[in-house]
Amino acid sequence: MSPRTIKLLLIEDNPVDSRLLKELLYDAVPGKHNVVMAYTINGAIELMHDHEFDIIVTDLNLPDANDVGIISRIQAINSNIPIVVMSGQADAELALEIVQMGAQDYLVKGQGDGHLINRVLDYSIERKNDLKQLSYLANYDSLTGLANRLLFRERLDRALIHADRSKTLVSLFVIDLDRFKNVNDTLGHDAGDQLLVEVANRLKKCTREGDTVSRLGGDEFTIIMEDLKNTDDVILTADKVLDFMKKPFEINAHEIFVTPSIGITVYPMDEVNAGNLFINADSAMYQAKKSGRNCYRFYKEDMNSHLKVRMNLETKLRRAIERDEFVLYYQPKFNIHNNELIGAEALIRWIDPEEGMISPALFIPLAEETGLIAPITDWVLKKACNQNSEWQKQGYEAIRIAVNLSPKQFNQENIAHRIFNQIICSDLAPKYVELEITEGALVEDVEKSNEILNELKTRGIHISIDDFGTGYSSLSYLKKFPLDTLKIDQSFVRDLMEDSDDAAIVSAIIAMAKSLRFNVIAEGVETAEQLSYLAAHGCHEVQGYFTGRPVPAEEFVQFLVEKTEQPKLKLVQSG
Ligand code: C2E
Ligand code: MG
Ligand code: MG
Repeated sequence: MSPRTIKLLLIEDNPVDSRLLKELLYDAVPGKHNVVMAYTINGAIELMHDHEFDIIVTDLNLPDANDVGIISRIQAINSNIPIVVMSGQADAELALEIVQMGAQDYLVKGQGDGHLINRVLDYSIERKNDLKQLSYLANYDSLTGLANRLLFRERLDRALIHADRSKTLVSLFVIDLDRFKNVNDTLGHDAGDQLLVEVANRLKKCTREGDTVSRLGGDEFTIIMEDLKNTDDVILTADKVLDFMKKPFEINAHEIFVTPSIGITVYPMDEVNAGNLFINADSAMYQAKKSGRNCYRFYKEDMNSHLKVRMNLETKLRRAIERDEFVLYYQPKFNIHNNELIGAEALIRWIDPEEGMISPALFIPLAEETGLIAPITDWVLKKACNQNSEWQKQGYEAIRIAVNLSPKQFNQENIAHRIFNQIICSDLAPKYVELEITEGALVEDVEKSNEILNELKTRGIHISIDDFGTGYSSLSYLKKFPLDTLKIDQSFVRDLMEDSDDAAIVSAIIAMAKSLRFNVIAEGVETAEQLSYLAAHGCHEVQGYFTGRPVPAEEFVQFLVEKTEQPKLKLVQSG
């Protein structure tokens, strides 16, 4: 007999009956039962919230409930607690019903002595424990402790219902270990088992609380991710799984490398019913195996191709930096009134050995996302400054070289210092360098932006707002920054002659910029009409295909030659 006391919740509205039970128990085994009384089911539920009981004995005739529903109400609060029902009369049918509902036993009032009741209580507690054990065995994988196939199905069904209701996404991963059989065959099943346990531990570490990691058998695992708003977390987790599995597993002093193949579906995006979800994830997993293993594949083909293009581009972009596949093109900027060359914008071009020239509009955003923008900008700045310095050394008249600064970089520590250092290294006077920055970059953190701009400006670097008009475009706001030039975005210039709104915007920007003493340049000028409209409205400078396309340095030299030779010609004429 166990020496510990049993905390018993007795739900009985008749004080005579409850006193009798207490006395019977006390007489049989004094001090063993700590009986707490409740007179109603609601009172009992309240007690259950505040205390833990080992067992509940309940009457089925209570002031606030008088049927077997009492059992379900108790189970709803705690499904693990053993329940013994006490009834006024012997009723075999009722006894069967309550046991089927999950109660452990049935006592008839006035029958049996304390010892019998004590035994009934003890057995009920034992039986419930066994059941808990059984249900664990039925729901969990004994090797890894992960959910097993049964619980996996249950959780998946529940997750899908929840997703429908909450309009969120569910993602299912099917994970198979590549060449697991080799481990079993060469190192034995014990080693294989150990490996599976380690894999299970790593998978658990990759997932969030609330995700279900299961082992369906063999080396087949699944992950259910719930409550997703988009697929970002799915990709993140898939990457994490690949990453976490990279490190070798140490089994019996052997270092073992195993890689996973992962198939992924997303519900309801993949427009399938619950039954198909697993099949789809499984077929995606086979795609992953076919694609060379150690990777993940989405069931939806367009997810894969999107990802593939991105991944390819990213890998290639990294390589491009190492292999120096970039070149700079230079586009001239002219004084609109006397046609004099005043500067050039450096525009990056990526010459991919296979695909040829790739537009910066395509790879700059990716470079920003992946952090590759920092080395790229360093390269552009260095190249552009060195080139400009070179031209001056060759005797051409000095111009200003403009470099685009990515908004992402504007938040970078020490950016002003790094830029200035590069200029010094190139042996160039800072006034021959211009930075083109978009408005968005500045307004994100106004104070910090101001600090950086002031630092650059006091050193003599020229500051321009690129793509002006597409962002916040608050001139009064921009007045706070130490700026030199506004660059009217080419989208306004494009339809200048056809769209009266654009024409109005352009002339308004010019007028306001002038009153605030900003220099104004229009970009994307392609026709003589556009050029004369801009000149007539007082725009200072112009850049566009009409006056000069972006060209490699060797070709740009012709603009420098013209600029340098023109005054000489004049000198010759007057001399
Ligand atoms: P952006 O700074 O506004 O550059 C102007 C873009 O307009 C350039 O495209 C240029 O080739 C193009 N363009 C110039 N004149 C005309 C014209 O008359 N008509 C038309 N239709 N287009 C014209 P690009 O070189 O493809 O560059 C696109 C964008 O990529 C740039 O816009 C800039 O935001 C970014 N970018 C280019 N090079 C760099 C760089 O070195 N660093 C950074 N961070 N971004 C860069
Ligand atoms: Mg620009
Ligand atoms: Mg622009």
